[in-house]
Amino acid sequence: MSSHQAPSREELDALRQRYRSERERRVRPDGATQYQAPEAEFGYYAADPYVAETAEREPLHDTVDVAVVGGGFGGILAGARMRQRGVQSVRVVETGGDFGGTWYWNRYPGIHCDIESHVYLPMLDETGYVPEWKYAPGEEIRRHAVRVARQFDLYEHALFSTSVTSLTWDEAGETWLVTTDRGDAFRATYVVTSTGTLSTPKLPGIPGIQDFKGHTFHTSRWDYVYTGGTPDGGMTGLADKRVGVVGTGATGIQAIPMLAEDAAHVYVFQRTPSTVDVRANRRTSAQDVGADREGWARERRENYLRIVSGEPADEDLVADRWTESAGLLEKLLPSFRRQDDREAFEAAYEAADAVKMNELRTRVEETVTDPDTAEKLKPWYRYACKRPTFSDRYYPAFNRANVTLVDTADTHGIERITETGVVVGDTAYDLDCLIFATGFSVGTSGVVSGKLPVHGRGGTQLLRVWARQGPRTLHGFTSNGFPNLIQMGSLQNASSVNFTHILDEQAVHAAALVAAAEAADALVEPSRETEDAWLATLAEDAPDHEWFHADCTPGYYNREGRGRPNGPTAYPHGAHAFHRLLRRWREDSMSEILQPRAPARDR
Ligand code: NDP
Repeated sequence: MSSHQAPSREELDALRQRYRSERERRVRPDGATQYQAPEAEFGYYAADPYVAETAEREPLHDTVDVAVVGGGFGGILAGARMRQRGVQSVRVVETGGDFGGTWYWNRYPGIHCDIESHVYLPMLDETGYVPEWKYAPGEEIRRHAVRVARQFDLYEHALFSTSVTSLTWDEAGETWLVTTDRGDAFRATYVVTSTGTLSTPKLPGIPGIQDFKGHTFHTSRWDYVYTGGTPDGGMTGLADKRVGVVGTGATGIQAIPMLAEDAAHVYVFQRTPSTVDVRANRRTSAQDVGADREGWARERRENYLRIVSGEPADEDLVADRWTESAGLLEKLLPSFRRQDDREAFEAAYEAADAVKMNELRTRVEETVTDPDTAEKLKPWYRYACKRPTFSDRYYPAFNRANVTLVDTADTHGIERITETGVVVGDTAYDLDCLIFATGFSVGTSGVVSGKLPVHGRGGTQLLRVWARQGPRTLHGFTSNGFPNLIQMGSLQNASSVNFTHILDEQAVHAAALVAAAEAADALVEPSRETEDAWLATLAEDAPDHEWFHADCTPGYYNREGRGRPNGPTAYPHGAHAFHRLLRRWREDSMSEILQPRAPARDR
């Protein structure tokens, strides 16, 4: 079948069968437990390589207006939007040595954001900054995070290399007591949590992983002392090294071509090939994006979100492979629409998916010269089963004599690691350096992980309530029994491929809640009835993920092949509609969650 033609029924049957057998080859009985946390003897893999020595400081016992847990874009935006609303003291507490979150930790060679920089970088209208590339390098994004934090004076009270260990509501003082792993015990009138979803690096639990005597690290803690160079390349330390890379997700796709240029030899240990679409990165000018007009960035972001949320738009300002594939991408989002004629919907979707996947498989054939290698690089699953990736350099790297693709699907990944390298099937690969591009655990940081206990009214622990009754919130932000606690994240809220946009809307909302509470001298706390009404709204059109994810190849999207739980995890009508709903609620109904405070003399 030609790559752009609609497939026949026979072709679809054959594809379905192929996808099923490829999935069966990969599903493992140990599911998500196959991974090893970077703890104890593996703690080295998560240590901060960018801070030589953590500076000593005295523990703090003061009081701030707002404490923000997490200094990534979510925390920065929460702080910035609070400052815009006139909040005086905002203290961001961050485990890393500076602001930036994922862009602080991830500095691997070739790192770029694969969402267009003009919609990904927040607060471009406010800072006047115009990105230089359509897809920005990581360092430009990290510097922008610092720029926003500086502009809104967030450094003044920030605590770095510090992790929050507990949040406890002090009923009498109507404040939160915040403790940290550096001995701090300070108070805050409001707490905002924004701890990210994919922040803890994970390692494969491959037998013998601890025995390897060569050099090893995770891509989110790149060791430039060993490799030399920078994210732009020039890794002279690898010139005589045999380097193994485990993992070919969005990270591996960006790092491997850079390693190919600098290392003596690169062995790519692949378990499931990614889809790798056209990148077409290029320099952009302010003129290209109409940056002379006021509000240009906001307009562009809204347009993008509309399209990737599956809503009609008059024009496509970003016009890239994300927006082009928006119909298929909807399946990535929690916003699966409930379809009246489900059979017709599934058939149309499957046909469109086959056209897209054929196009991507043809791209491999047309680029990779060795037919055996090309065959192994072809992805056999539906487009949205795994996160799409983009690169114009990844496939050409396999035409180099110093790059070897080692397919490990038949053995469920690498079988064994020894003192000298990696064993797959009958072959031992001797390596000087082994790099894990194996991604991050989902939901293992912050409040939902249990590592950050939250005690609300009467000492009630948030996760205990949620374990008994399921998560209970209004709009994902606030919960009964936990006054002045505002949670950011996608749970019972919204999600999108452009997550910084979601975070910014959440930050605007959080700042509006604080401003309203201050104006009314009130606490922010929904009643149980308000929570019930929100849960009912979510349940009304709750998505049915099962039909799609059950047939998908394993990965973190479907809990390593076990499928995604059905039910109300996020607003079912997409992020764009959710933002409209929030705006309306702020205008009409915000007073419903303002509760009277105790008279000031009693606090
Ligand atoms: P992923 O979880 O996407 O990929 C991990 C890779 O490691 C997969 O290829 C996986 O194979 C492989 N792997 C795991 N265990 C083994 C094993 N035992 N043997 C062989 N291979 C193994 O992690 P990434 O860091 O690539 O990406 C994580 C997320 O971070 C992305 O999905 C994206 O959301 C974000 N990201 C965003 C970027 C951007 O530009 N916006 C850039 C980079 C990352 P398998 O698929 O078979 O499980």
